[in-house]
Amino acid sequence: MQQEKRFDPVTLITPTAAMSPSVHGGRAKCLQRLIRLDMPVPTTVALSFAAVRKIARGQMPDMAGILDPFGANPLLSVRPSSQDPDWGGPSAILNIGMNDTRYAQLIDSLGADAATSIYLRFIQSYAVQVARLDPEPFHLPDTPTEESLRAMLDAYEYETDEVFPQDPAEQLGQVLRSMARAWDGTTARLLRQAKGAPADAGLGLVVQSMALGVGEGTSGAGVIQFVDDATGERRIKGRYLSQSQGRDALTVAKGALFLCKDGRGPSVEEELPEVFEQLRNYGDLCRIRLREEMQIEFTIENGQLHILDAVRVQRSNRASVRIAVALAEDQVIPTDEAVMRVDPAVLSELLHRQVDSVSPRDRIVRGIAASPGAAVGRIVFTANEAQASAARSEPCILVRRETTPEDIRGMHAAAAVVTVRGGITSHAAVIGRGLGLPCVVGASDLVIDRKGKRLIAPDGRKFHEGDMITVDGTSGDVLAGAAPLLEPALDGAFQQLLQWADQYRDIGVRANADTPADAQTARNFMAQGIGLCRTEHMFFEGDRLGMMREMIFADTVTERQAVLDRLLPMQRGDFAELFHIMQGQPVCIRLFDPPLHEFLPADKSGHRELAEQLSLPLSEVHARVEALSEYNPMLGMRGVRLGLTYPEIYDMQARAIFEATVEASRSGDPVVPEIMIPLVSAMREVELVKARIDAVAGHVRAETGVQFNYRYGVMVETPRAALRAEDIAQYAAFLSFGTNDLTQMTYGLSRDDAGRFMSAYVNAHVYEEDPFHTLDVDGVGELLKMGAERGRAGRSDVVLSICGEHGGSRSAIDFCRKQNFNYVSCSPFRVPAARLSAAQLAISDARAELR
Ligand code: PEP
Ligand code: MG
Repeated sequence: MQQEKRFDPVTLITPTAAMSPSVHGGRAKCLQRLIRLDMPVPTTVALSFAAVRKIARGQMPDMAGILDPFGANPLLSVRPSSQDPDWGGPSAILNIGMNDTRYAQLIDSLGADAATSIYLRFIQSYAVQVARLDPEPFHLPDTPTEESLRAMLDAYEYETDEVFPQDPAEQLGQVLRSMARAWDGTTARLLRQAKGAPADAGLGLVVQSMALGVGEGTSGAGVIQFVDDATGERRIKGRYLSQSQGRDALTVAKGALFLCKDGRGPSVEEELPEVFEQLRNYGDLCRIRLREEMQIEFTIENGQLHILDAVRVQRSNRASVRIAVALAEDQVIPTDEAVMRVDPAVLSELLHRQVDSVSPRDRIVRGIAASPGAAVGRIVFTANEAQASAARSEPCILVRRETTPEDIRGMHAAAAVVTVRGGITSHAAVIGRGLGLPCVVGASDLVIDRKGKRLIAPDGRKFHEGDMITVDGTSGDVLAGAAPLLEPALDGAFQQLLQWADQYRDIGVRANADTPADAQTARNFMAQGIGLCRTEHMFFEGDRLGMMREMIFADTVTERQAVLDRLLPMQRGDFAELFHIMQGQPVCIRLFDPPLHEFLPADKSGHRELAEQLSLPLSEVHARVEALSEYNPMLGMRGVRLGLTYPEIYDMQARAIFEATVEASRSGDPVVPEIMIPLVSAMREVELVKARIDAVAGHVRAETGVQFNYRYGVMVETPRAALRAEDIAQYAAFLSFGTNDLTQMTYGLSRDDAGRFMSAYVNAHVYEEDPFHTLDVDGVGELLKMGAERGRAGRSDVVLSICGEHGGSRSAIDFCRKQNFNYVSCSPFRVPAARLSAAQLAISDARAELR
């Protein structure tokens, strides 16, 4: 507000007039830039946000002051000028000032057809947009005639009981008032807020002298841009229509000219070569001086070119990356500016297929968008069916009430996953993101009829096993049928942008990767190591599940050890492969975390299978499964508690890690593995496990004769571990905050069940966001801060990071930078967006320091 004092409410745009986008809007400021570049812009007056606010309240500015620069009998247009052009605004109104007298004059100068068409267009827009009359009686006739004009004027009088206003000042005043009020309407407000506009965003208006585009001599109007809005490639695009105004050229079915030579029809390049050359020069000038790809609206009036407006080219996500990189490569903008211009969310989209946004969507249900990308496939209801479908090379969509570790192979086989239950950190969501598999969770309006092998949609429609559906994990939609998809766009521009980002970034980005395929993805996306390898997922592979079950059913330590001895070489192979792929980079391996019962079959047929496999009576299997069941397994015997109860498990894992270290170091750079202990809540746990792991390391060194180092650390995911971080850090070289469990335990909120009421909670602003999705800086963040400070007090060089699902999000990265964490770790497919977000935050800070 204070700022506006330096500016006049009504400003004639000249090269030196005092103007600002935050006072007059982006369009007005851009027009001033075009004028400064000596482009033929018709006379234009800008009204500030403050002036428009007053108009909306009924306080009209001095109309004579606005009209003065346009001379006698002007014809004018009014266009909106919001601060950010993407926030929209009311539609432009052209030909203000048309009345019976001007009409008679134009018949003489332009001919009857042109004059009638201009008058008709003005009455139509005035009636519909300003007087808000029903559009029906105001359709433009195919041929503009005197009779049709009279009929439209009569219709206006009939509808309003007033003759059509003849005074240009009155017409302009009403146009300004209606546009000012439209900006305050609820729909306009909601639409712009959805695009990020603040609640009090202002609207400026620009009043411009009309270049007519109709009449005798060469006249017409068109739009030109110099880049493809879908791909970002440099090419001229647009249309020109003789005897037209505004953007007519883009909407007519036929008659418009191409701009460049085109086999499909005549072009401006051939028919009006000088105009074409001028436009091309203006395009280059805009790109270089406005440092942006602009779309130019132009009019030719009696052979004379006028530039009416230039707006930033609307662009696809893919094009936004290409354009930013091309501008920097051509040295139009510096590389840090290119990095700042791309929204990190866009990158995640480019890594995956997407539903083509122009196609119609037949939505079955909407759930939580848990892993981006889209896939088409046939419905299956079990992991086995998913594998069978993959074996037939038929893409399928796995639909489950919720997934468990047992479904992992089915998930690998599926093209996408949908669950009825769950939230953003539930099993399906975490695995989906890790695999880059589109995933929608918490689609709670969907009913799975298991017996009937069908889905029942909220609108009653039924979808059977084998029916084709589309999962859009980016929006959370499940769609009927096979929607058209767009391919991912990992081109050179994408890689270049990220290389530049890395030059500015000041926090590490690692990936959460459980399998060699994940590790390869992490490497491809240039993650700086693995921040979390969840080893339990390795035990669901092949015949390992059977061995795990044998181990769980072992009665004695010796029996358990025998099974672990068989698992050891497999586990060693897993780690050796990871080390090999990540050679030279740190790999942080988390020892076994989940409760054992997750490895046991959940239903009767599974129990029967297990009884056969273990040669045990069914009753014994039932009894053991029963004995292992816990009321609250997520708070039960899992993580380090399991590690201390059955120490042979962690011993085996440590041995596998060390033997793989020796193996991998023989064929490449020395590997320094990191071993991380989950679900710690007391220092003594860390101390006890460390003593055993040190002993295993000693044995492997002695057996192999090879020296190696390892780093030992703790996953801080219980509130107590954060509070006691000072003691714990004495035994831990690093602390990695597991914000999934830490959020669950800080809120006392089940990460697998919160999906049921989360949207109601967020809608009612009980929580501003889903805390499993957006790091709760106020609460969980407080524990992170405390944990980091106390951890550093215990060990000044302790390495700090977060590895929960929040790790890839901008707000969490912002938080971690501010707390001087060393790195964040996130799903491999989120690594590019995390690299870009981290760079943008560093650049913003550096710019703020310069100010
Ligand atoms: C966590 O709790 O934040 C974490 C990364 O571990 P998991 O999701 O495997 O429980
Ligand atoms: Mg955890």
